[in-house]
Formats: sequence, C-alpha cells, structure tokens
Amino acid sequence: MDSHANLYATVDLDAIAHNVGVLRERSGSDVIAVVKADGYAHGAVAVGRTALGAGAIALGVAQISEARALRAAGIDGHLIAWLHTAEADFAGAIADGIDIAVSSPRQLELVLAQARRLGRTATVTVKLDTGLARSGVSPEEWAQTADAVAAACAEGAISLHGVMCHLAFGDVPDHPLNSQQAQRVDDAVADLRARGVRPQLVHIANSPAALTRPDLARDAVRPGLSIYGYSPVPDIGDFGLIPAMTLETRISLVKKIPAGQGVSYNHTWVAPADTVLGVVPAGYADGVPRLLSGRFGVHVNGRIFPNVGRVCMDQLVIDLGPDGGGVAEGDRAVLFGPAGAAGGAPVPTATDWADTIGTIDYEIISRIGSRAVRRYV
Ligand code: PLP
Repeated sequence: MDSHANLYATVDLDAIAHNVGVLRERSGSDVIAVVKADGYAHGAVAVGRTALGAGAIALGVAQISEARALRAAGIDGHLIAWLHTAEADFAGAIADGIDIAVSSPRQLELVLAQARRLGRTATVTVKLDTGLARSGVSPEEWAQTADAVAAACAEGAISLHGVMCHLAFGDVPDHPLNSQQAQRVDDAVADLRARGVRPQLVHIANSPAALTRPDLARDAVRPGLSIYGYSPVPDIGDFGLIPAMTLETRISLVKKIPAGQGVSYNHTWVAPADTVLGVVPAGYADGVPRLLSGRFGVHVNGRIFPNVGRVCMDQLVIDLGPDGGGVAEGDRAVLFGPAGAAGGAPVPTATDWADTIGTIDYEIISRIGSRAVRRYV
C-alpha cells in the first residue's frame, strides 16, 4: 500500500465475472459488457479482460478513444464504439479493427471515405434510434442508410457486423415502448436481409432489460451497470448480483473538540457536547457528493459513524462520539461497498448514497475520481 495514497477503489474481479454469469443466465443470451467511462470508473481494462474471460463476447464503449485504449492495452476481443464527434476521423478505429456504430448516413459516409482511402474493410454496426431520440439513425433516415449500407457491403468497403438500439424505458419492464423498439430493430434487420445484408450481432437490451425481459435479447444483451453488481430495478430484485467496488480509506486524524465547536465550512454542525472527530481523507473531488453532507455514515471497525459538517473537496469529518469509539488514526474506513465488505454493521452501498440524494447509482460509481487508486482483488 502506498503510504501517500489517501483513497482506494478496491474492485473484486471475481464479482465482475460472477455478474457476467448472472446476466448470461438471466437473459439466456450472449453478453456484450459495457465498459465505457473507464468501466463505470472501475477500470475498463481490468473489467474488460475479466468480462471477456467470463464469457462476454464483446466490449462496448461510447468513444473510439476508449476502444483504442483497450486495444493498446492488449485486449484483442470484439470492441464496439457508438458515440462520435462531428469531425471524427475513423482511420484509427478502422486500423484497430474496432466495430464502429454509426448513428447517421453522414457518419456512415465518413467511415466509408476512410475505408476507401485506407483500402480496408471497416467493421460497422448500425445504431438505430427506435424511440430514445438520442443518437441513432432516425426512421426518416432509414431508407437512405439501408441503401448506403447495402452498396458499401457490395463494394467491400464495410462489413455490417451489428444492428443495435438503446431502450428508453428499459427500467420499466412492462412499458409498451420496449417491445415497439425491438420490433423496429427486427423490421430493420428484415429489410437489410431482403437487400442481401446479414448482420451477425443484433443487440437491444441494457441491464434492466437483460435482467427482466429475456424476450428482448436478440443475439446478445448489452449491460453496463449490472456488470458492476448493481440492480437497476431493485424493487424487482437484486438477482444475486455482487457490487464489485469497495471505496475505502484510512482515518487520517483523530481529534477532540469541545461542546459548541462548529465543524467544517460554515459550521453547519456544532458539537452538542464534548466529542472526538475522525478526519476521512475523501471528498467531493473523489466522488463523495457534497449533497450527502450530514446525511451518511462511514464504516469503521464494524460500526457506522455519522458524517458531520460539510463534505469538502478532499476530506470529510465523522463524529466518533465522546469516547472516540475506539477509533485510531490509520484505521480502515469504508465509505461504500457490498454490504459485507467489512465486519459488523452492514457497509453502506452506492445505492444508499444515490437514494439519499435522489440520484442513481450509475452516477455515484461513475464519478469516483482518478485519485482513488484502483486495486484489484
Ligand atoms: N448501451 C448503450 C448504448 C448505453 O449508452 C449504455 C449505458 O448508458 C448501455 C448500453 C448500458 O446500460 P446499463 O448500464 O443500463 O446496462
């Protein structure tokens, strides 16, 4: 352990492998593991390698730079990237054999131009906007896109590997739009087949759909959040998923304060009696939301001690009580993790944090900052 590292994001790779297995089983389908945003801040390379080792057939990311970083790290599995800048130069992606998901006829044209220039066949997925109204080929652009795809495949400039779309209501399993979106994908695939183009990999379902709507799986599902161990539909179940990340540190200071002493910026908490404080070296720059100030606890030596005063950029303070709770400088402090990440009281989870401040666990985990040293167990 680095004596100057203040914070660790410990990632249990066995949990990642387990979660891939849960998703394969629940969906009855192959899995494309989504490792964008540095693997939801767990580390895309380690998670990607683990997911492929656990049977995932491909990795999905948003940006080509993310896919190329995985290639550069030696990952030679199938990689799909689906979010591009207006002026994207696709040459590097083609050279690296990355499956480029195009969201418009113009993006397809740009890929084609580069493939022709390089004399290479670009691997392409068509990303359809079937109702999310975000990126993806819109229904109005479909006929033009299908014509261009068929011509480019005949020319040998592209190989159409996949067709995908993203659900607007994946976390509302019975929402009618889910089946409508899938039908629109099926129609597009049928149209391509009628033109002699046969995509090998059709994928629609994100985590909630992979877990609750196996009928929406086509050749594969494309989960992100659940790979990391969180249920996007906790009211329906946890599906035996195991959260992979434990955010932990060590108490950096223990100090006594008298009754009446205000704590942290603007003294939003004032000690009602003599007490002992513990300083925890993690703050909002590390991904501890400032909105959590005074509304969460930190797990130390089997007990939960309340945060008092404002969460600062690099540190926060917990109240150890008048006797100091038996806590010493250097003791392990767990901010969140799977409930059993430390002995004694259950450890708070990223979902607890999200619920407390009215957000989603996606946002909590993906914002864990770069100062937290990623450590794999
Ligand atoms: N597919 C696409 C296109 C996405 O943008 C995302 C994430 O937002 C995912 C799949 C994974 O979604 P989830 O994390 O809900 O499984």
